[in-house]
Amino acid sequence: MSECLFCRIINKQVPARVAHEDERVLAFEDITPQAPVHILVIPKKHLSTVLDIGPDDHALIGHMLQTAGNIARERGIADRGFRLVMNTNPEAGQTVYHIHLHILGGRPLHWPPG
Ligand code: AMP
Ligand code: ZN
Repeated sequence: MSECLFCRIINKQVPARVAHEDERVLAFEDITPQAPVHILVIPKKHLSTVLDIGPDDHALIGHMLQTAGNIARERGIADRGFRLVMNTNPEAGQTVYHIHLHILGGRPLHWPPG
């Protein structure tokens, strides 16, 4: 989807600070970090929301989660604690309609979120 911001980041048409890339996923620094560590993990396959995840996507979603764990370890927040968030649709605050897993950590994170 050429008009999708995150597809444009995958295609290197928009710059990003890449934390990890492989054939299925890309991870990059959030442009407006909400915590000392704030990285987004996205699939290279365009899926607008979690509601579009189908049976063929299970391995991909698992790979996104494992990648997030690997990045948390690399950034030194695995044992301290971190949060994985996937906002879905307007009331949850989704602004980019290409699924992305937020990795947030490096400070105490309050619960429940706002
Ligand atoms: P959400 O509100 O859950 O859809 O999250 C979208 C996230 O994308 C926000 O945290 C934004 O700060 C982030 N974002 C938007 N544009 C960019 C960009 N060009 N590079 C990196 N992160 C971005
Ligand atoms: Zn996209």
